[in-house]
Amino acid sequence: MLKLRKTEIMEITAKERFQKKLNELQNSNHYFRIIRKPVYAIGMMWFRFEEGIVRNKKRFSIAIVTLMTATIYSSFSFPIFASEDEIVECKTNEMRQQTVNSQIINSEVYADMITIQDDSDDFLNTINKIQEVADISTEKAEEDKKNHEEQDYSDYQFSPEDWRYILVNKQHSIPEGYEENIKFGQIVTGRGVMLFDERVVDDLTAMIEAAGEDGVVLEIQSPYRDFTYQRWLFNRKISIYMSQGLSYIEAYQLSSQAVTIPNASEHQIGLSLDILTDNYFNLNEGFAYTVAGRWLAANSYRYGFILRYPKGKEDITCIEYEPWHFRYVGVEAATVIMKNGITLEEFWEEYL
Ligand SMILES: [Zn+2]
Repeated sequence: MLKLRKTEIMEITAKERFQKKLNELQNSNHYFRIIRKPVYAIGMMWFRFEEGIVRNKKRFSIAIVTLMTATIYSSFSFPIFASEDEIVECKTNEMRQQTVNSQIINSEVYADMITIQDDSDDFLNTINKIQEVADISTEKAEEDKKNHEEQDYSDYQFSPEDWRYILVNKQHSIPEGYEENIKFGQIVTGRGVMLFDERVVDDLTAMIEAAGEDGVVLEIQSPYRDFTYQRWLFNRKISIYMSQGLSYIEAYQLSSQAVTIPNASEHQIGLSLDILTDNYFNLNEGFAYTVAGRWLAANSYRYGFILRYPKGKEDITCIEYEPWHFRYVGVEAATVIMKNGITLEEFWEEYL
């Protein structure tokens, strides 16, 4: 006698019941004939699906258990939110080494990402295009360099009174009344009109145009942020942490490490801005590997802009490496700063 497994018996019964129901409906309702076929097809698909689950129940169980374990495990790790101007405490040597190690790992991850995606033709084309543009940029940069070779500005008289060198960081908050006296100029971008110190608008526009000539699109982000907006960003961070069950004090402490405390942000003086590009919208280290990131790192000083928070200087700036954040200091100081690989803080110590 043919022995049927329990599941097979159940399956036949359910299927039979379904077919019986369809027949009943067809007899009682004339119009049901029209939709009988699709309903039947859907029903059969369901039974096949169910059959698949029953046959592969071991695999499904393993998959579900793995998924649940991963979900539970990840909910224990503290969520990290993407934010700009991440303030870090000035670090001990040991902490610095950890940061350097993690940055090396990050670079390796990016390298892996490129290797993984190597199969895609589109991706290869993009990489080739990036390479071409980068070569052109390098050629142009070399040419510009020759043109400017005689100007290394080492004899330039830098004055601590110069408005372009104003130092704003965790230790030096914005002087009282500064914001009220900023004269704003407008920058027209694809994302609308934005505000910046009017004395810098020409240099910024020249930089965007020069990049454009090299085929590099620079997207300007939050050039000027007022106190109210900075405070809003800060308070929003606090409420996010509090919604995760932290007390106000704990949330405040964590927030001050993640978002610039109001009045200590360079964005409030209209001389700093974040720059991204048309195909990369994340304020993270990956920007450094884009054509725009590389172009800016190599050329921004020609227009008076410095990479304000460089890699390896976190213990001096107290801010994480930000390849997207640029600060205007004028061509003379920018040239000295970028050529000597120093920060604005070090420039103050050595030149002012
Ligand atoms: Zn910024």
